[in-house]
Formats: sequence, structure tokens, C-alpha cells
Amino acid sequence: MNDPNCIFCKIARGLIPAKKIYDDDDVMAFHDIRPQAPVHFLIVPKAHIASLYDAQPPHQAALGKMLLIAGGLAREAGATDGFRTIVNNGRVGHQEVYHVHMHVLGGPDPLGPMLSRRN
Ligand code: AMP
Ligand code: ZN
Repeated sequence: MNDPNCIFCKIARGLIPAKKIYDDDDVMAFHDIRPQAPVHFLIVPKAHIASLYDAQPPHQAALGKMLLIAGGLAREAGATDGFRTIVNNGRVGHQEVYHVHMHVLGGPDPLGPMLSRRN
């Protein structure tokens, strides 16, 4: 359920501080410590799921809720004219923290291409 060495488990359990914007039994949202856009926060399941490779049927409600609440939280954070969600997974996805998290990124200006272009 929880990994004692996982930084997002520690945030979810209130053991280390974060700029929290949403919290319930299933999920939590907090501002990214190194924002890449004017609006940049993370939505995480309370349960430790290392990556989407590890998602199991019991995680369905929390994973669904992450999408469900993204729009309202984005709007409240000031992203009223669009936003982007990203879930990085594994080495190829450049995942840094191995506890599933959905980035929510927003303007006001358009965010640019989804991936850096190779040519
Ligand atoms: P990634 O695993 O590459 O999808 O991204 C991990 C994200 O977690 C990065 O954007 C980090 O800035 C962010 N991050 C790491 N530690 C913290 C923390 N203690 N509080 C908030 N955000 C964090
Ligand atoms: Zn964790």
C-alpha cells in the first residue's frame, strides 16, 4: 500500500510538506516543486503504484478520479483556457519518481508541441 522510501507516499501521508491543492481518501494533488509552466501540479493516487505498468483492477477508482478532477483543479489553479496532462512511465518515458503521478500543465500561453521534435 505504502512504500516507506517513496517521496510521494511520504507526501500523501503528510510526512513531508507539499503545496497541497486537493486531498481525499483516493488521491491527492500538489504543486510541482520545479514547475515547467505557469500552472504545474501533480495528481497522485494515495496508494503506492510504481508506474502504470503496475496498475491493477483495485486501482481503477483512484486512477479514474485523477482524470475526473483534473479539469476542475486546473481551472481553479488558473488554467481556464486549456491544459495538458502527462503521465511519464519508465526509462523511455523519463519517469523520475516511481509513484504514479499525473502532471497537469497550463498556460496562460499555449504550451508548445507535446514532444520535442527530432527534425
Ligand atoms: P517525472 O517522474 O519525470 O514524471 O516527474 C517527477 C516530478 O516530480 C518532477 O516534475 C519533479 O519536479 C516533481 N517532484 C519531485 N519531488 C517533488 C516534491 N517533493 N514536491 C513536489 N514535486 C516534486
Ligand atoms: Zn509511493
